[in-house]
Amino acid sequence: MDFVIGIDVGGTKILVGACDMNFNLLVSKKVPTNAHSDTKEQITQRMIACIRDVIDETEKTYSGYTLSAIGIGAPGPVDSAKGVVIDAGNLGNWHHVPIVSILSGEFGVPSFLEKDGNTAALGEFTLGAGRGTRNLAVVTVGTGLGCGLILNGQIYSGRFGFAGEFGHIVISEQKIPCVCGGYGCLEMFTCGRAMVRMMKEAIAAGKSSCLSGDFTAVDIQHAAESGDELALAVIREAGDYLGRGLVSLINLLGPDKVLIGGGVSNLGNVLLDTTKSVVHDRAYTFYRDTPIERTTLGTNSGLFGAAVLAKRSLESAEVCNG
Ligand SMILES: [Zn+2]
Repeated sequence: MDFVIGIDVGGTKILVGACDMNFNLLVSKKVPTNAHSDTKEQITQRMIACIRDVIDETEKTYSGYTLSAIGIGAPGPVDSAKGVVIDAGNLGNWHHVPIVSILSGEFGVPSFLEKDGNTAALGEFTLGAGRGTRNLAVVTVGTGLGCGLILNGQIYSGRFGFAGEFGHIVISEQKIPCVCGGYGCLEMFTCGRAMVRMMKEAIAAGKSSCLSGDFTAVDIQHAAESGDELALAVIREAGDYLGRGLVSLINLLGPDKVLIGGGVSNLGNVLLDTTKSVVHDRAYTFYRDTPIERTTLGTNSGLFGAAVLAKRSLESAEVCNG
């Protein structure tokens, strides 16, 4: 029996899992990323040690199982064709890493890289709420705003290998600078960080709220639940922006379904309900009933998606070579 390794690289932790070819999770482990305190080499070596642990435990527990491929999802931009993580801001020192050749050399099996939004989308498409679709958009609302696109059953990578930067469509003339080099991007008005900024600006402008000083998107949600009108208004505003962004995405691509995941999307229903009503009111008439649902694989969508990437890429490589 063969198994594959799926890896989900995040700003705080690296998740590594072994899956059989039906994507049952056999063994999983995680290590801290320490992206800003450790060197590039230290981070890579810690990841390799974790992968080795997972492989050893899998082979020990499931006799006769052999590693066949490794899939890895990392924050973009990544060059998926060359297998290089380029320069994801929240991965600190871990940039310009030729991770595919490193892993293939270390473990002697083919390895494949995609940006994390795409692996999450592939996970949901194959094993989660996106099953049965051909065209799927998976939007992750967390600290930032991520997205992965499956078009005609395949990851859509675009010119540089990390297309689907939904968070960077231009939605406002406000000159709030964005990590992408532009300004007025959707991410600046929708993600957890954006909600905190909007809340602080409103408080500074004299609006009253039970929140003050430093707080997080979770605190804003709690304030809204306890009846704080300003917190509720900020969540609705973020949901309204997300809805307007989705109207453009849905009109442009006509996906069978849109899935919303990530930490902020789990904060109650106000954000998602607002988003859905904007799509219902403003999308092209034919698309207004596009299902907008929550992801179902939770924090494991990236891990499973990376495992699916490994298996699918291996199979298509075999077809090409065969
Ligand atoms: Zn941007």
